[in-house]
Amino acid sequence: MAGDGSEYVGQQILGKGLVVAIDGPSGAGKSTVARLAAAELYLNYLDTGAMYRALTLYVLKQGVDPDDEPAVTELARTVPMTVEDVAHAPRVLLDGKNVTNQLHSKEVNQAVSTVAAYPGVRAELINFQRHLIQAAVNSGRGIVAEGRDMTTVVVPGAQVRILITASEEVRKQRRAAQSGMNEDSIEERDRKDSEVNEFMEPAPGVSVIDTTHMTEKQVVDQIVFMVGHALKAEG
Ligand code: C5P
Repeated sequence: MAGDGSEYVGQQILGKGLVVAIDGPSGAGKSTVARLAAAELYLNYLDTGAMYRALTLYVLKQGVDPDDEPAVTELARTVPMTVEDVAHAPRVLLDGKNVTNQLHSKEVNQAVSTVAAYPGVRAELINFQRHLIQAAVNSGRGIVAEGRDMTTVVVPGAQVRILITASEEVRKQRRAAQSGMNEDSIEERDRKDSEVNEFMEPAPGVSVIDTTHMTEKQVVDQIVFMVGHALKAEG
């Protein structure tokens, strides 16, 4: 996007292996803005929610009851999941098959918070996420990693840490506007997810973007601005 400074910031971070950690509740619009910011800044993009969703899809496909913690945890250890963390076309594959467009089904929406709450599941997926992030850092590309526990648990040492929020009303509207997500009870998911991670209030050192009255473009510009600011601070 010419003229708004993103081109300049994108050039400044080339080869630096920068990590941008973004958290927030469901429906705040963080996936879209995180991916757009990553694309503008030539960074990789990791949607960790998609990983919990893909594992949940796998559990359901295997006919395992999501309430069966030992069986689900075992599947988390063996799941044949591949994650492609490119910003222009992020994909998750199970057994080599692209399942990205199956991740927002009603069944997955309903079971994902249960699956994501198991400590053994989180240990496996967090390990996987850290490997992906480290690979992006080592290659010099850098990455935007987005979820519920990026700023606090997965990469608390990220150069840029952001919490993206929006009023509950607006979050509901945004979820409903996305096709196929009408069956998603975001209050219920946020309630369960909040028992596992704090993502409604920022941890110390985490910047907040309240997107309630902002357009997508304004949020993306704000993220790019924060990245530029962090680069200047690093010198
Ligand atoms: O971000 P998204 O709504 O796709 O996340 C789906 C679910 O995955 C969340 O409701 C939460 O249960 C889980 N999740 C998580 N930790 C993350 C990302 C997502 O527990 N870092």
